[in-house]
Amino acid sequence: QVPLKPGRSLMDWIRLTKSGKDLTGLKGRLIEVTEDELAKHNKKEDCWICIRGFVYNVTPYMEYHPGGEDELMKAAGTDGTDLFDQVHRWVNYESMLKGCLVGRMAFKPIAAPKVQFLLFTFSLLSSVVGLLYPFCCSKTSFILIVFSKLLALGLPLENRVNNVFVCYDWFQTDGLITIVIYTKQKDMNAELVIADCQDKRLRGEIILDDHSYLLEVDLEHAVQEDFAVNIAEKVGKVEIILKKRDNIHWKVLGQPLESHNTFIRRVDRGLFYRKCKLVSKAEVTHDTKLFCLMLPKNTHLQVPIGQHVYLKQVIAGTEVVKPYTPLLPFLPLDFKELSCHDGAHIYLMIKIYSCGLFTQALDHLQIGDYISVSNPEGNFKKSQVQTSEELFLLAAGTGFTPMVKLLNFALTEVSCLRTVKLIFFNKKEDDVLWRNQLEQLALKDERFEVQFVLSEPTKNWVGKQGKISLSLLSECVKRSRKDSKVLICICGPTPFTEQGVEYLKDLGYSQEEMHAFIA
Ligand code: FAD
Ligand code: NAP
Repeated sequence: QVPLKPGRSLMDWIRLTKSGKDLTGLKGRLIEVTEDELAKHNKKEDCWICIRGFVYNVTPYMEYHPGGEDELMKAAGTDGTDLFDQVHRWVNYESMLKGCLVGRMAFKPIAAPKVQFLLFTFSLLSSVVGLLYPFCCSKTSFILIVFSKLLALGLPLENRVNNVFVCYDWFQTDGLITIVIYTKQKDMNAELVIADCQDKRLRGEIILDDHSYLLEVDLEHAVQEDFAVNIAEKVGKVEIILKKRDNIHWKVLGQPLESHNTFIRRVDRGLFYRKCKLVSKAEVTHDTKLFCLMLPKNTHLQVPIGQHVYLKQVIAGTEVVKPYTPLLPFLPLDFKELSCHDGAHIYLMIKIYSCGLFTQALDHLQIGDYISVSNPEGNFKKSQVQTSEELFLLAAGTGFTPMVKLLNFALTEVSCLRTVKLIFFNKKEDDVLWRNQLEQLALKDERFEVQFVLSEPTKNWVGKQGKISLSLLSECVKRSRKDSKVLICICGPTPFTEQGVEYLKDLGYSQEEMHAFIA
């Protein structure tokens, strides 16, 4: 992020795009762009970029780009899709840059791998059949049987990545449709399955490390509004059970949608959003609120520890997306208190900035309004905590949000942890989130300690004061034993996190002993 000139905020950009000004220089005409033509527009004062086959004239956007002009120039005159996906694939560029659309890249014929693959498989099978068919009724019927089996399983050979093999099948009874996805992964769990069924559209995504398998169909008939997702963890089998609305026999499951039955890298899978209802909004501090969103009935989504979701709102006619980290509605003191884990609600603690574009719009949502929530993302792995003996959490402001589920998990499920210490940086006393709950937890659980550090304390403050620094960290983050297995998690404004990581390195902690939460 770079400081933008006054009058160059996202809202200013949205205003400019709505002003009717010709932003492409083509007076609304859309053209076909060749690679040679694209390459000519590679200067700050004339800059075109291609993203996913569409070409944008980003010259007028230069001064509004939050990452700065130089970042944008890295893709000038070229296909910037990979760069864009690395930095912020969640940003809704189609909506933000629609006024800058120049046209599509000119079509370049490419080989169609699926057809080739089918032909190859077909010819391979034909040769096998050539050897076996004396034992079968007819060569054609043998090929058809083998092919129909492959198709029923969703062309499984294509869905093999790194020796992980995913396929699906479905069957029905009078009242139910059961779809079974076989992953053969031993550690399958509910967080790795994201399923949505709205109207007649079914989408089931299975996360397998950094890959994603997707089942996506337009169902043949309507279903009721309460589906079930069952997971056989040990064998990696996932069942999605739909209730038929009418008691009729289905001939097919439905029509496959574009990405149906694909197994690809997670980063290449588009973000999927569903509309969630705002059911409550409660004050946490003078500027921070706890929002409770209810997932639609036919949605199965559990946000894993340390991961965030994206919220999407239409602001002044433009879709705007921002990341937020779901947490628990409170810090459980008694671990039987976890009725909040009903799977139907998502809790978000959000600071409302007085000049914030997104948070102001969020604050204006009324109970009962809807907002789009994406699938989770993030690279934190629970296993990092499971092997630790001492956990340090360094949080600044709302950087506290990922620490909540993490803290709860550490204290309830990690038996080898001897100590958990939260060092919580804020400006003033009344900015501290859940201070009372944190102090209560520290009284209740002797493994947990909390230390508040204020950068703008009043003179009555007797606790620690200052900013994150080498001396402060050397004092607060210490191994209790020389060979202790330590994990240090850090989250806050980007410069806070980056400085923290540098200080920790200076103090001798290795990269493996740290996790920095950054988008
Ligand atoms: P903008 O319109 O972008 O900015 C307006 C003004 O607000 C800025 O000039 C600045 O003064 C202030 N401001 C805006 N953003 C920030 C910022 N990030 N840090 C400091 N000052 C800022 N926020 C939460 O409240 N809760 C969360 O759980 C949460 N989770 C996040 C998870 C990730 C992975 C990331 C990257 C960010 C997270 N954020 C969270 C921050 C959030 O995404 C937005 O940046 C924030 O809500 C401000 O959006 P805005 O559009 O209202 O502000
Ligand atoms: P804030 O109130 O502005 O600041 C909280 C504390 O951090 C204060 O003590 C402040 O001290 C210190 N701080 C701020 N900027 C600093 C810097 N550049 N260097 C060192 N210390 C600094 O914080 P906030 O408004 O709640 O912002 C929280 C941040 O966390 C946001 O940027 C948000 O994007 C981020 N966040 C990230 C994630 C994630 O997963 N990546 C999740 C949630 C939140 P000073 O008095 O010096 O400012």
